[in-house]
Amino acid sequence: MNGKKDIFLDNASTTRVDEEVRDAMLPYFSEFYGNPSSVHQFGKKAMLLRESARELIADFLGCKPTEIFFTSCGTESNNTAIKGFALNFLGTQKNHIITSNIEHPSVIQSVLFLKEKFGFEITVLKADNEGRVSPEQVQDAITEKTFLITVMHANNELGTINDIKSISEIAKSKGIYFHSDTVQSIGKIKFKLNEIPLNSASLSAHKIYGPKGIGVLYLSENSFVEKLLHGGGQERGLRSGTESIPLIAGLKKTIEILINKIDEDIEHYTKLNEYLKSQLTKYFREGISYNSPKENVLQNIVNIKIDYRKFNIDPEMLIVKFDLNGIAVSAGSACHSGALKPSEILLELGLSEKEALSSIRISFGRYNTKDDIDFFIDVLKRILQ
Ligand code: PLP
Repeated sequence: MNGKKDIFLDNASTTRVDEEVRDAMLPYFSEFYGNPSSVHQFGKKAMLLRESARELIADFLGCKPTEIFFTSCGTESNNTAIKGFALNFLGTQKNHIITSNIEHPSVIQSVLFLKEKFGFEITVLKADNEGRVSPEQVQDAITEKTFLITVMHANNELGTINDIKSISEIAKSKGIYFHSDTVQSIGKIKFKLNEIPLNSASLSAHKIYGPKGIGVLYLSENSFVEKLLHGGGQERGLRSGTESIPLIAGLKKTIEILINKIDEDIEHYTKLNEYLKSQLTKYFREGISYNSPKENVLQNIVNIKIDYRKFNIDPEMLIVKFDLNGIAVSAGSACHSGALKPSEILLELGLSEKEALSSIRISFGRYNTKDDIDFFIDVLKRILQ
């Protein structure tokens, strides 16, 4: 692009596919292309790959293979869990769902759909100014009608980590289903599903150096969701549709690599995080503050607020200016239209439209280096001078 340097600091939106992952997928397009439901050898090979992937993922996440369901993305996993649980309770006394105002649209829009189309009652908990939902808030919102609580593990814009262990224990003690959107936390912090009494959780391969188009829904064996996709009964009846074996092969390799690299990855994100903050302090003593919290936060996400008045900048132009200078950062969630709108999450946390627009999310990945941070700081100096 114009011969200039292009630095990707938007890894919370998506990541570059690992070359080993790409290579692992290739044979499944034109060599082992069988349908896993077929009884012949072609089908068997595909089925064996699918089941070995399921076992590996279950082992990595800390659950049973029968609790893993392949989906097309994190969005589908969240939709399937939330709508699937709700359909089981349709027309019963239990009609209350608890969620929060910092959820990803795939959660909040699913919940709003259930409210608008089916009359479910919704409580949207207000996160604190760090984007955190407390177990006490959840506890206080529970009524005898509550059947589902859905609170994300780590927020995609701020990196804030919620105490889902305590929340899931509260839910369990009351016999309420608990779903957590774990799309951003998997691979960025270490945890095992069997240490947290969750009913369901979601994973998306493209956030962890895997291909786009594949996700996982974890559904604990004591949890039941109504299916959303009807058809040939794949994925033990939960998710019909011929499985994408190349994508499953890609996800399997993604997880194999993650198992080996997770400690190194986390250390790498932590070092880049510390370095970025030290450089920001060095060059911008005033005028830059953090939207991301200091503690209980993913190390790969740093969300900063630039004082647009002090630097006399047009907030609406900020992300574009970074882009023109070869840096991809985000104004918030990239899952939307690409339009320059202030982040809903930051507005929910009390920032004004201009403050939200003058905030940027820098998110590191496995392939970023300290040089990338230096380049970012240079561009930031240029933009703010
Ligand atoms: N949940 C969170 C927290 C996310 O950040 C995203 C994607 O940005 C999703 C869900 C959706 O995942 P996918 O892009 O795989 O649909």
